[in-house]
Amino acid sequence: MSEGPPSGRAVIPDRVEETPDLQGAHPRLSEAQIAALAALGHRRATRPGEILFRQGQRDCDFFVVLAGNVAVVDGHGTPEERVIGVHGRGRFLGELSLLTGEASFYTAVAADAGEVLAVPVDRLRELIAGDPAFGDLVLRAYLLRRSILIGLGAGLRIVGSRYSPDARRLREFAARNRLPCRWLDLEADPAAEALLRQAGVTPDETPIVIAYGRLLRNPSNAELAGAVGLPAPGTPHADSDLVVVGAGPAGLSAGVYGASEGMRTVILDSTAAGGQAGTSSRIENYLGFPSGISGAELAERAVLQARKFGATFAVPAQATAITRDGRNYTIGLGDGTSVTAGSVVIATGASYRRLDVPRLEFFEQMSVYYAASQAEALLCRGDPVAIVGGGNSAGQATVFLSGHAARVTLIVREPDLSDGMSRYLIDQVERLGNVRVLLRTEVRELLGDQALEAVAVENNRTAARSIVEARALFTFIGAAPCTGWLSGLVDLDDHGFVRTGETARTADAADGRDTGWQRTVLETSQPGIFAVGDVRSGSAKRVAAAVGEGAIAIRLAFERARAT
Ligand SMILES: Cc1cc2nc3c(=O)[nH]c(=O)nc-3n(C[C@H](O)[C@H](O)[C@H](O)COP(=O)(O)OP(=O)(O)OC[C@H]3O[C@@H](n4cnc5c(N)ncnc54)[C@H](O)[C@@H]3O)c2cc1C
Repeated sequence: MSEGPPSGRAVIPDRVEETPDLQGAHPRLSEAQIAALAALGHRRATRPGEILFRQGQRDCDFFVVLAGNVAVVDGHGTPEERVIGVHGRGRFLGELSLLTGEASFYTAVAADAGEVLAVPVDRLRELIAGDPAFGDLVLRAYLLRRSILIGLGAGLRIVGSRYSPDARRLREFAARNRLPCRWLDLEADPAAEALLRQAGVTPDETPIVIAYGRLLRNPSNAELAGAVGLPAPGTPHADSDLVVVGAGPAGLSAGVYGASEGMRTVILDSTAAGGQAGTSSRIENYLGFPSGISGAELAERAVLQARKFGATFAVPAQATAITRDGRNYTIGLGDGTSVTAGSVVIATGASYRRLDVPRLEFFEQMSVYYAASQAEALLCRGDPVAIVGGGNSAGQATVFLSGHAARVTLIVREPDLSDGMSRYLIDQVERLGNVRVLLRTEVRELLGDQALEAVAVENNRTAARSIVEARALFTFIGAAPCTGWLSGLVDLDDHGFVRTGETARTADAADGRDTGWQRTVLETSQPGIFAVGDVRSGSAKRVAAAVGEGAIAIRLAFERARAT
C-alpha cells in the first residue's frame, strides 16, 4: 500500500547505515521465508523518499525490504522528525500495531531506490498461524519493537503540567495500554512550550495529545483510544455467548479458551489488557518462563492469542451494572451501551489500596504510583524514590526501580521481610547497593509544596520519626476487589470478594429456601456467572492461579449451558 509523493523534507541522510539487530528486534528473513511471503504478496520498486506507510495509518501491508534501505521515521513532517531505524535487504517493517489493528506509530520512508515485497496483513496472519517458527520470529520482533518505541518516546505526544490530574490520567492510560508516547512537562521541558506555540494552544488549554498530526484537547480515555485504534465499545456485541469482564490474566485466559472453543466471546476492560500483572516489570514464577516475563509482554501475547481465535476486545469499557433477564445477563457499560450473553466471567480482579495519609489525593496527581513498569521508571529516572509494602509486588518494584532511580527506600510495616516476601526476592533486594530497607516503619506524612519531595515515616515500635527523601512514592499495600458494579446480583463475602461454589448463597438459599440447582466450583450465586482470579473469595492472588481459573471457568460454562 503506497501513499503519495515524498514529503520533500530531507529527513533521510545521504549515507544511511542499517540499524543493528538488538536482541532479535530486527531479524533478517531467510531466502526460503521471503519466497513463502512472495507467494502471498507482490514485489514492487521504490523511489527515494517514497512513503510506504504513514504514522496514524491502519491496516498497512506487511513490507519486506528486497533491495535498498527503508527508514523508520518518528514525527514525520514535523519539526521534531527523526530517523529511528534503517532497514535493508531481508528485514521486515512494522511493529505490534500491524497485528493488533492499532494505527502505526511511525512512518516508513524508502531511503533510496530499491524494491519491497508488500503482503496484505490478512495473508500475513494466515502465514503466522500456519508456520509457528515464522510466527515466533515476527511476534518476538514486534514485541521488542514496541518496547523500543516506548523507550525512545516515539509516537504520541502528551503535553501538560505535571500537576494536572487529566495529564496524569492520559499518561497512565498510555502507559497501561503500552502506547508509545513522549511526555512533555510544561513545568520542566522547554520543548513543551514550543510545541504548544506551534499548535496554537495556550498552557491553560492543556493537556493536549498530538496523535499523528491530530490535535486532541484533553481527550477522554475513550477518545484517545479511538484515535490510536484501540478496540472501543460499541462494536457488535449483541449475540455473544460469553462476556468476560476484566482483561487481567484471568480474563485473558477465559477469553482465549472461550474463543478457541468456538464461543462468541467479548472481553471488556475499563483500562487496559494486563490488569495488575500488566504493571509488573518481571513475573518470575509463571510456568515456562525461567528468566521471567514482563506482565506487559504476557498480556500482549495473550491479546494476540485471543484475537487469533476470534475474541472481540473493548477497551476502555467499564462495566457499571449487571442484570438478569431470564437465561441471559446484560452488562451495562459506562458509555451507556450494554452487552448481553448467557455466560459471564467476572475477572475484575482487585486494585491496590491507598495509603491513609493526609494530602494523598493531591500528591496522587503527580507523584504517587500504584504500578512500577517501564513507563513509571522513565518518569522517575535518576530521582530518589520510596516504595511502601512488604509483599512480592513491592519487592519486584524495588529490584526493578533500583536500576533506574538514584536511591530506593523500601518502607515495610512488618519486622521482617520474610513475613510477606518470597526468599528469591529478598535475596535480590539485599544485594542491591542503592536500596535501603526500613522495617517496622509506616508512612505518616507526604512532604512537598507542588510535588513530592520527601515522606515522613515513623517506627511503629519506637515511635521515632525520620524523613526519607523521595520524588516519587510507589505503594503496594494490598488490594480491594473491583466488585462495586455487580449491583448486588451475586453473593459477596464480608470483604467484597465474590463467593463461588459451595460458599456462594443465593438470596433464596439465604432465606432458607434452597433453589436446588447444583453450583459448580467457580460458579457464583447466579447460574452461568463465574468468578475467576483475584476477585474471587479465597483466590490465590497469583498469575498462574488466575490463568488456570480462567480456563476452568470456560469448561464449566459449557457444562452449565448444556444443562440449561
Ligand atoms: C506489581 C505487581 C506484581 C505482581 N507480581 C506477581 C508475580 O510475580 N507473580 C504472580 O503470580 N503474581 C503477581 N502479582 C499478582 C497478579 O498480578 C494477580 O494475582 C493477577 O494479575 C490477578 O489477575 P486477575 O485477572 O484476577 O485480576 P487483575 O490483574 O486485577 O485484572 C483485573 C482487570 O479488570 C479490569 N476491571 C476492573 N473493574 C472493571 C470494570 N468494572 N469493568 C471492566 N473492567 C474492569 C481492570 O482494569 C483489570 O485490567 C503481581 C501484582 C502486582 C500489582
